[in-house]
Amino acid sequence: MTHDERQAALDDVAAQVRACTRCRLHEMRTNAVPGEGSADTEVVFVGEGPGFHEDRLGRPFVGRAGDLLTKYLGTLRWSRDEVFITNVVKCRPPDNRDPEPDEIAACAPYLERQLEVLDPALIVTLGRHSLGRFMPGERISQAHGTVRPVDPASGAANALAFALYHPAAALRSTEVERQSYADVALIPQALLDSRARREGSVAPAGTPPEADDAIAVGVLTDATPDVAPDATLF
Ligand code: URA
Ligand code: SF4
Repeated sequence: MTHDERQAALDDVAAQVRACTRCRLHEMRTNAVPGEGSADTEVVFVGEGPGFHEDRLGRPFVGRAGDLLTKYLGTLRWSRDEVFITNVVKCRPPDNRDPEPDEIAACAPYLERQLEVLDPALIVTLGRHSLGRFMPGERISQAHGTVRPVDPASGAANALAFALYHPAAALRSTEVERQSYADVALIPQALLDSRARREGSVAPAGTPPEADDAIAVGVLTDATPDVAPDATLF
């Protein structure tokens, strides 16, 4: 797909989401939140669902959790418009409750289509519900900071998933925040690993993910610049 075709396909998903009535969450929304970012990116961040501010503005991660996500990106010298940011459900669950399994299932085709169009190398999961889609059966306390191959049935044909705690959890706990910054520092290496894998130098594309298929990501040492020179997005 060309840039223009990808952009048109993403715009089409966004229009469908804004008109969607597939689950009960449409009844309470002010604005649906399809997601936003670059149509040409290699990295997609997937959160749980819109909160109060996102529902008001129709944009993902624009409240306090969003400010922290933007800070994480800043430590990598990445900006929001170089990546794509979206959620497992596109409409706000009332009182910020967890999305229900039937709501996640109803909304899944939109995320699948976005991933099909973007064909990202890396999916960064934010929190438990996103983790559940891309690393089924894993616990956030174990999985954070690690990668797994993504099931192509997710829409992403050949991606690694990298798990982060939800930024809202980091806002509630300085220990989770400290750990999250350490995890974020591992993202560039995960991207490099995924690129290598996509170029066929490691596992072949479409290898079915297995429970014990964890790939250790390299720990960046003090001698390593905080962004690997070839880990820029473009
Ligand atoms: N939390 C999420 O999971 N998603 C958002 O878009 C904002 C906050
Ligand atoms: Fe449709 Fe998803 Fe919104 Fe439910 S959450 S109404 S499935 S866009």
